[in-house]
Amino acid sequence: MSFETFNLHPSIMAGVHGLGYVTPTPIQLKSIPPIMQGRDVIGLAQTGTGKTAAFALPILQRLIKGQRGPVRAAIISPTRELAEQTCEAFMELGQYTNLESTAIYGGVSMDQQLRRLRGGIDIVVGCPGRLLDHLWKGTIDFSNLEVLVIDEMDRLFDMGFLPSIRGILECILHRRQTLMFSATMPNDIRRLVQEILHDPVTVQIGRTVPALTVSHALYPVKQHLKTALLVELLQQIKTESVLVFTRTKHRAERVAQHMKRAGFGATSLQGNLSQGRRQAALDGFRAGSHKILVATDIAARGIDVLRISHVINYDMPESTDAYTHRIGRTGRVDKKGDALTFVTGADTAMVHDLERVLKKPLERRTLQGFDYAKPPLDNGNIRSPHQSGRRAVRNGRVKITVT
Ligand code: AMP
Repeated sequence: MSFETFNLHPSIMAGVHGLGYVTPTPIQLKSIPPIMQGRDVIGLAQTGTGKTAAFALPILQRLIKGQRGPVRAAIISPTRELAEQTCEAFMELGQYTNLESTAIYGGVSMDQQLRRLRGGIDIVVGCPGRLLDHLWKGTIDFSNLEVLVIDEMDRLFDMGFLPSIRGILECILHRRQTLMFSATMPNDIRRLVQEILHDPVTVQIGRTVPALTVSHALYPVKQHLKTALLVELLQQIKTESVLVFTRTKHRAERVAQHMKRAGFGATSLQGNLSQGRRQAALDGFRAGSHKILVATDIAARGIDVLRISHVINYDMPESTDAYTHRIGRTGRVDKKGDALTFVTGADTAMVHDLERVLKKPLERRTLQGFDYAKPPLDNGNIRSPHQSGRRAVRNGRVKITVT
């Protein structure tokens, strides 16, 4: 099957060829035809399956005819990074059309967004909060909206965006085509689907299990040795770009600093960074100037870097879905990837859950030559605030300054 079967406009096909896509992915094969027929669609697909082009191509096809300027398609994304990447996908696929897209999210000046919007925008990709701000201020008008996409609905829901999504839906009173993409379909989302989608076609790609192109391994290790293990692992194995996940923002920052001190080109991506620094980290990672990106789950949402050869879970994710999302960053489309997870005794229950979802026992590995018996202190690992504090004895009392 080739892209020709969809009968896309030649200027859209030029964009498809420009990106080097030859064969449609399964989600594209299954969802492009019903979307082009104007049907509402629920796409159950994880990231890395090509789902963005699955909705972007038929949207471009629809908008290429008709008026320019009013917002005719809107995509709701859970994070700024995903909004930027989706917008970029529209720009690249639509580079030979004269359709204009923009990304709208909080944490950056409203003025710049207003200038873009006033210039005439056909496709808006935005995060719920800022989109709603614009709708309430009247600076975005959805009265001409023809297609609404709710992307990564499960994550939007987890992040507490349901009220904002409802707010946005209240601003679109007319009938439009609605597309919803989600890796999982918990009951709350199922209820929303019944309310807002009209006779939807459900397109499911595999189960919500990690991509088959990813191999999985566990590295049992004591908490205090994780950083030392990471350094040694990265010295021993051959990698392209590596994405490391930590559970907290603070830890992402500290692990990245440590990797830099160990001589790796590393950077971090976590929610405390300004938008400028987040974008710089992402651009550096994408361009390959930082080989290692240490990130938290939310910050890493939507990262689309094709050369990620390894995802390393420095900390075990909180759920099997979060695991699926994390490792969806590697093994994208038909590339191979490795997911390596550091596990401590506290992760036993999650390991069982993962093995159940993956339907196979996960390989336990030990790194040759690594000293697993090193004692907790003086190992250069991320220490707890207690361990990393300077201890000062004053008047016979111990005062700990957290550094
Ligand atoms: P997504 O699941 O939308 O995040 O897409 C994952 C990656 O696959 C992105 O880098 C896309 O550019 C790429 N991609 C999407 N569709 C195709 C295709 N048909 N052939 C090759 N790569 C693709």
